[in-house]
Amino acid sequence: MYLVGGVVRDLLLKRENWDLDLTVEGDGIAFARLVANRYGAGLAVFERFATARLAFPDGLKLDIATTRRESYTQPAILPTVQPASIEEDLSRRDFTINAIAVQLNPRQFGRLLDPYGGQRDLRARTIRVLHAGSFQDDPTRIFRAIRFEQRFGFRLERTTSRLLARAVSTSLIQQLSGPRLRNEILLLFAEHDPVRAIARLGQLKLLRFLHHRLCYTTQVKRVVTAVLQALVWWARRFQDSVIDRPIVYLMALSNESSPVVVAAMIRRLALSREQAKNVSAGGRRVDRALKRLTNKGTVRPSQVYRLLEDFSDEALVLLLAKQLSMHHGVRLSLLKRHLVAYVKSKAVKTALTGRDLQAMGLQPGPQYKTILGKLLDARIDGMIKTEADERAFVQKRLDLAGWGKPMLTRETGEG
Ligand code: ATP
Repeated sequence: MYLVGGVVRDLLLKRENWDLDLTVEGDGIAFARLVANRYGAGLAVFERFATARLAFPDGLKLDIATTRRESYTQPAILPTVQPASIEEDLSRRDFTINAIAVQLNPRQFGRLLDPYGGQRDLRARTIRVLHAGSFQDDPTRIFRAIRFEQRFGFRLERTTSRLLARAVSTSLIQQLSGPRLRNEILLLFAEHDPVRAIARLGQLKLLRFLHHRLCYTTQVKRVVTAVLQALVWWARRFQDSVIDRPIVYLMALSNESSPVVVAAMIRRLALSREQAKNVSAGGRRVDRALKRLTNKGTVRPSQVYRLLEDFSDEALVLLLAKQLSMHHGVRLSLLKRHLVAYVKSKAVKTALTGRDLQAMGLQPGPQYKTILGKLLDARIDGMIKTEADERAFVQKRLDLAGWGKPMLTRETGEG
């Protein structure tokens, strides 16, 4: 049994990694079953890939695979899998630094298998493929190469770099399915600070695989660069908000592209409905809101609320990143104040409901929404503070509209 892949690489780099990948020469699934029984762990089995995932009661997750050979019948399509030796298993891996294994059986405990010079490349800070057809077999490795290069500050080895450029110049990446391309892009954008990785995608002419007319201007670069700062501010202010960070980067990256281009990119990446909604809302609406919120003249809290109520938190982070990219201190603090006030106002609720309006003698209909909306606005603006204020507010409107019925008492709800 071997520990293999990223965790071995990270052990050698002295980086923390709890993504433990074990691989068994023999029957990985049978072994996973034994471990699950012995330690009361949850077990998910993927027969087709000869792998299993264990979830231990303390939260630890463990992937167990069977050592295997992969054959690529067609470029860019997932390979077929057959059991094989650990050496063959290592030979199908992406880069030398990810093709190191450590044996764990008691008698050979700690034996290191490094047939491709992974340790040498770790020392030389180099990303190197195992063979010339690697990117062709699996073009997702192009994005993986950039991910590791940028994460560790490594360089692509010369031949690897040439092979990568050659693979990029073909239509291989176009043959990748939407979900596989999306997965790679979003993994890249999930890195701590993907700015250089995005610049690298631009430099290597890889952004055209999102869309050939994607607008990657200096201004877009500035916004992308400001996203991290916006995320940090947001996380500090609103600790309960969970942000889909990779999506914010995708929104920033496609921010100046036309709606048609963005829609085509969403289709190409087969984004989920939620992700698609976010990304397509990123463009002009954000600009319009930004203008309104940072211009001179006062904006009431309820107006801010109405302006932003359809924005996801991701879109709000983008809004902030855009303002940050403009380096205008006064407007930035104004926007931050609006954002804080907005998030607070999201918790404001009216005491009265539609049922109360009905009890007050108002016929059910579309005016309920209008009245409750006005009540909420007045609450947000601090014009009314109590339920009695709300009732008086509604009653006044009823009287003005000539719908007057005697005002109801609060205690009984009866006229
Ligand atoms: P990360 O730290 O980002 O999780 P990782 O190296 O652990 O990186 P995984 O995607 O978890 O990456 O993959 C685990 C291992 O499986 C890799 O280290 C590599 O050996 C192998 N592997 C993953 N994807 C590929 C691929 N596309 N081609 C070849 N080998 C791969």
